[in-house]
Amino acid sequence: MPYPRLIINLNEIYLNALKLQKMCEENNIELVGVTKLTLGDPKIALVLKKAGIKKLGDSRLKNIKKLVENNIPGPFQLLRIPMISELEEAVIYADEILVSEEKTALIIDKIAQKYDKNVQLILMIDVGDLREGIWYEEAPQKILKLHQKLKFANIRGIGTNLGCFGGVLPTVKNMNLMIEIKDYLEEKLDKQLIVSGGNTAALNLLEEKKLPKGIYQYRIGEALLLGTDATGHRDIPYLSQNTLLLEAEIIEVDYKSSVPIGEIGRDAMGRIPHFEDKGWRKRVILAIGEQDILPNGLKSLDPTLEVLHASSDHTIVDITDSTTNYDVGDVIKFRISYGCALRAFTSPFVEKIYI
Ligand SMILES: *Cc1c(COP(=O)(O)O)cnc(C)c1O
Repeated sequence: MPYPRLIINLNEIYLNALKLQKMCEENNIELVGVTKLTLGDPKIALVLKKAGIKKLGDSRLKNIKKLVENNIPGPFQLLRIPMISELEEAVIYADEILVSEEKTALIIDKIAQKYDKNVQLILMIDVGDLREGIWYEEAPQKILKLHQKLKFANIRGIGTNLGCFGGVLPTVKNMNLMIEIKDYLEEKLDKQLIVSGGNTAALNLLEEKKLPKGIYQYRIGEALLLGTDATGHRDIPYLSQNTLLLEAEIIEVDYKSSVPIGEIGRDAMGRIPHFEDKGWRKRVILAIGEQDILPNGLKSLDPTLEVLHASSDHTIVDITDSTTNYDVGDVIKFRISYGCALRAFTSPFVEKIYI
């Protein structure tokens, strides 16, 4: 059996999807199931659809195309504000597109007209996280101006992204700001708009029933696929974290010094490594590396193991404190973080196994 491998538990993902879909439904929230972590994996996407999630979202058009080609029913939302060079395909494959640039929106409008497609636009607003979006102070006027110029594409609502670049948390305060802008625009445009308010990091507002009144959309990936919230730094208590399991094989077992011998330069990734002198330690090398995982995102199921470091193809784990007698050829199992899962799904060297 080939290693390393990622064991994907479709049933646990299904149960997470079922819970989140129900929770959103009860709160009048449209849930978009985000598949980008999985590179638009059709099997996982199908599970999300089966759990009742109506719309799927992905940041990469290539992933959406893959879902379409694998007969996964839409509608699809394109999450990353698109490149001009991909707009033709974006209009063909996506039904709803997040945008922040007038220039992009106007080209979408033209292409939508050409294909006679009723494309929905969500205008992104930056309320402080400093990733995409029109700066909130300028957003109302810019959106009104854009609305006048659009002939075909429809502004369905406004959106924001939080917790991704600046790590800014979704709060009642920044949600209220979104609602204020939405109310202003609704009055000026005389139509109802939605607030595409959040990702996994915004779930706590929903849990604590703190969301200001309005019609929302939540775009969720991490919580569905991992049951965690990286921005809030927590396991989500009502979701399963047993969705993904990474297995890697041991290729060397030996006792070595915990401090390298010789002059220290930088490591393979250009970092200056740091070592604590613990004397001689029993360590294993796993046949997996930075190309496939993030070493600090590996959480061993054996809590006595300590992941020390990784280079592109090797990961070193200290096993001195374990009661298990690990040998060459044995396999070590890990739960993984969002960042680590992103690498594992992306790496062609990690076998994907569905159970
Ligand atoms: C990735 C992404 C999401 C989903 O975020 P999670 O933290 O995985 O829930 C939502 N919106 C946008 C724009 C994204 O790029």
